Formats: sequence, structure tokens, C-alpha cells
Amino acid sequence: MNEGKATSRIRKEFDADNIAAADKYSKIPSSLAKHKIVCSECSDYWFVDDEIFRQVTSASENDATNNPFVCEDCLEEEEFLSRLS
Ligand SMILES: [Zn+2]
Repeated sequence: MNEGKATSRIRKEFDADNIAAADKYSKIPSSLAKHKIVCSECSDYWFVDDEIFRQVTSASENDATNNPFVCEDCLEEEEFLSRLS
């Protein structure tokens, strides 16, 4: 049956954390997510907000090859955030 699948999809769409993450980085530039950045895993372009952009650039300040940004397609958000800290 598909019941379980439908429930988890709806729960994810209405999860506050996921909505916040969607505002902070996406495939499409927005008023919040306006900084272009490359995922270190899939090399896809993403647009991120000021906060994420600052965290990523400060992490790569001493080593330009160190790109901590990994998109949600490659990694769960929690793992991504733990990489930044
Ligand atoms: Zn990726």
C-alpha cells in the first residue's frame, strides 16, 4: 500500500525546519537565497542566503579547496549543518 509514503511526504512538506531550509537555499535564486554556490558532492549550482554563504566562505577562507557546502540532494540537512559548525 502507498499509505505510509503519502503520510511521510505530507509531514515533510509541513515540517517547519524543511520550510526554513527551503527559504535558505534552493535551485532558484530568491530575495533570501541570492548567493550562487557549488555543491561539493554533485557540483550542482545552488543559491543560498547570507548566513549559509558566510559560513561556507569562512570555512574555505584558509583553504580554497575546502567547500563544506553539500546540497540536500546529497546530504540530510542535519549533516550539512554539523559540517559547518
Ligand atoms: Zn549535491
